[in-house]
Amino acid sequence: MHRFAKWQYSPIFFVILYFTPKNMTQVADIKKFRGALIDMDGVLYDSMPGHTLAWQRMMQTLGVKCDRDEFYLYEGMTGPATINLLFKRELGYEVDAERAAELYKIKTQNFIEWGEPPMMPGADRMLAALARLGMKRVLVTGSGQASLFERLQRDYPGVFPDGCRVTGNDVTHGKPAPEPYLKGAQLAGFDPSECIVVENAPLGVRAGKAAGCYTIAVTTGPIPREAFEREGADLIFPDMNSFADWLERQII
Ligand code: CA
Repeated sequence: MHRFAKWQYSPIFFVILYFTPKNMTQVADIKKFRGALIDMDGVLYDSMPGHTLAWQRMMQTLGVKCDRDEFYLYEGMTGPATINLLFKRELGYEVDAERAAELYKIKTQNFIEWGEPPMMPGADRMLAALARLGMKRVLVTGSGQASLFERLQRDYPGVFPDGCRVTGNDVTHGKPAPEPYLKGAQLAGFDPSECIVVENAPLGVRAGKAAGCYTIAVTTGPIPREAFEREGADLIFPDMNSFADWLERQII
């Protein structure tokens, strides 16, 4: 005890304290989690540049004013929810479900024309490390983009079989509501408190926290770290490779 007290007052102690991430105290418990609920766009695929362009093109065609980067902030919401947010703001009205589905189809087509998004560097290592940590992996995305679901099996073979996916088509209230992650935990077969969430969007972090999950943010887009801190992210990594590196270190 005496020796520790002495160490506490040494300059090196304060240097270590200064450079220690403030969330480090929460790091050690990662092995206790049993389920990993994993977002798709901006996590498994570097697809957000294509989505933001597709949204902007569709809205501009209709005369709805918008900024391309604002779509990063709506990431995680379902297509119809994003459409009605902008319609209400710029035109003063919302569209019905049928019209929203038509418009989302146009946005989807724009995204396909943009080209195939690359896999997120480090995502395959991240998924492998989660499996080695014994976690059941479930996809939880607000997207209804069929073109990407088809690619999942090719790019991440065997990781998300049928019954391990919650998509925008499976929920009534998309992110930031907790419903997608509550359903994901249900599919994993665990209580939300036994699951981690892997997210790249502030609204996704909000959804994960609202569901009661340990929520990890990976800032793969232009949104600053502070936005994820405000939403209460439990851990924040600057890119997927850093997160994968960290997970691999937890296996030992
Ligand atoms: Ca995302």
